Amino acid sequence: MRTFHAGFEPGHPPVRVRLGAGVRHEIGAEMTMLGLSRALVLSTAEQAGQGEAVLGELGALGHGLFAGAVMHTPVEVTETALAAAAAADCLVAIGGGSTIGLAKAIALRTDLPQIVLPTTYAGSEATPVIGQTVGGVKETLRSPRVQPEVILYDPELVATLPAAMTVTSGLNAVAHAVEGLYARDRNPLSDQLALGGIRAFVTGLPGVVAAPHDLAAREETLFGSWLCGTVLAQVGMALHHKLCHTLGGRFNLPHAETHAILLPHTAAYNEDAAAKALAPAAELLGGPVGGGLYDLAASLGAPLALKELGLVEKDLDEAAELATRNPYWNPKPIEEAGLRALLQGAWEGSRPQ
Ligand code: NAD
Repeated sequence: MRTFHAGFEPGHPPVRVRLGAGVRHEIGAEMTMLGLSRALVLSTAEQAGQGEAVLGELGALGHGLFAGAVMHTPVEVTETALAAAAAADCLVAIGGGSTIGLAKAIALRTDLPQIVLPTTYAGSEATPVIGQTVGGVKETLRSPRVQPEVILYDPELVATLPAAMTVTSGLNAVAHAVEGLYARDRNPLSDQLALGGIRAFVTGLPGVVAAPHDLAAREETLFGSWLCGTVLAQVGMALHHKLCHTLGGRFNLPHAETHAILLPHTAAYNEDAAAKALAPAAELLGGPVGGGLYDLAASLGAPLALKELGLVEKDLDEAAELATRNPYWNPKPIEEAGLRALLQGAWEGSRPQ
């Protein structure tokens, strides 16, 4: 199959990336190389222990720890963290999308360089995109200032991610790749990254679920996370991300689980309209993409139904209406009845046809 197609315009340059067991011990060397000497370490409260370990290892290069990162990057938390960062000359974030989101929010306002150690597969570290909550409303913006300068992927860090979150976070990453394949501004580079990312998770996730501390499988999935995150940096997303954003924001649903449940259904919705773009993914999954992703999720023990997340059936009408309110590009036109049917299937957890 021909892999090149016209319109080659990669959207975002790659950044410095290191991947391997123990690479987290290289933060000091990376700082020295960049001429930095006072790092503010960031984490969530739950990962404060990992933050303290990083700070301890940094010794004189460490300026302090701010262990207050939370989901959705509220601006109030950013303001408190900015005070802690006042005398720092760089940020070291250890955690998932929430902690990396806080580092990005500080960098947006200070331009401090960021060294990040991802501990989930969400992929935020690879993008110049930040989502933050201002006055209870989540806004997203894109700026080169928020792109972390160095990414250190250490499989030993992600090995502590609980099995359930490993699966949903992995499927969250796969969602970037699936939507990347049919993105309006897709290019030959984003296509290859997306396919490589899907392949890495299809290959690696079963091994990680069977043996969470299998570092080779963790490496494979972290590699997939970087590829899928880089797709998100390169191209625009469509229906799937819009729907997750809408449901997450309006009904306060958890980020990774919502992605994992909706992905087979949004892929099935777009399957005919984007048949050519999705063909290589169908080949990887051994059949139609929607059904293949559902079977993959089921085999990994992922949640399959939105009702498992506490969403009630009567909210589906409002969700469908909200998701059609602002027009946006999607391979198949967005219409409310179709979305309502999609949401019903995702709510019940049925296998998409
Ligand atoms: P998260 O960062 O919110 O983490 C969820 C919980 O798991 C936290 O309590 C965290 O401390 C804990 N955790 C993380 N890694 C762990 C580990 N290895 N071991 C034990 N516990 C661990 O979850 P997430 O899904 O990575 O991030 C979600 C957020 O990231 C959302 O707000 C989303 O919008 C954002 N996001 C942004 C982008 C972007 O490009 N801007 C991309 C993807 C996600």
